[in-house]
Amino acid sequence: MREILRRKITALRDKYKVSPGLAVVLVGDDPASQIYIQNKRKACEYVGIQSYYHHLPVDTPEEKLLDLIHEFNQDVNVHGILVQLPLPKHISEERILVSISPEKDIDGFHPLNMGKLVANAPGLRPCTPAGIMELLDRYKIQIEGKHAVVVGRSNIVGKPLSLMLLHRHATVTVCHSRTSPLSSYTRQADILVAAVGKPQLIQGGMVKEGVAVIDVGTNKVGGKLVGDVDFESVSAKASAITPVPGGVGPMTITMLLENTVRAFEDMLQT
Ligand code: NAP
Repeated sequence: MREILRRKITALRDKYKVSPGLAVVLVGDDPASQIYIQNKRKACEYVGIQSYYHHLPVDTPEEKLLDLIHEFNQDVNVHGILVQLPLPKHISEERILVSISPEKDIDGFHPLNMGKLVANAPGLRPCTPAGIMELLDRYKIQIEGKHAVVVGRSNIVGKPLSLMLLHRHATVTVCHSRTSPLSSYTRQADILVAAVGKPQLIQGGMVKEGVAVIDVGTNKVGGKLVGDVDFESVSAKASAITPVPGGVGPMTITMLLENTVRAFEDMLQT
């Protein structure tokens, strides 16, 4: 997908003499966020997206961040805006996300884009769930008519993914921290998605033979990155399973690139 995007961007640049631009903002010094941003910027560079990086101190007032986003909204060289979450406690994530122009909202978190997702209307979609749908399609996992069980109901993964699966005619069950017992639901899954943030929550005894498993979790255990799924016991029963690291994470970044190019193309047409 990144190769295809790279070729597409080269062709667009030759034709229009402009490159897609992504404004990236990090507030504070969270080490995990710094690594995510670094990976995203590297991926941008590889495909030919110009990234404009702004690293602000942890005590940056909310007003200053809003002013910066306002500038990006007006800037014709910026086609996508990415504000790395989480933000420091004194800044309202909701106010920041709403201030991003919906046309440049490449994370797909603006309420307008979320509303379009609910209505199944075209719009920018959140990257992690969009990447999961892409993985299912590219590995030819049938969705229509299947029972998809999504563990986790966050606004950035579980909830949007459940809607995407529903729009593709899966029967969807959404589980969360009050679901009991969790295994009685996971055992019914043809497609099981774990987006919780609890190392190895899903064990082999909790799934049926032939299940397709998507592990979204990224947990640090003893300096190692592990998912929400116990890979060894679950992969023995699964027909397909994503690894951690190397599965959903790189797809999320690819969808970010894809959304930036889509926003760029839309702006070229207006
Ligand atoms: P989140 O906002 O913390 O949500 C976690 C969800 O899991 C909540 O809905 C919570 O239920 C549910 N949950 C907690 N304990 C549970 C349990 N014992 N059984 C069943 N459900 C339980 O997390 P998130 O932002 O969606 O992220 C989830 C994981 O994915 C994290 O490890 C995160 O780092 C990772 N992630 C990875 C990527 C990537 O690109 N690879 C992207 C995004 C997130 P309640 O709603 O009831 O509290």
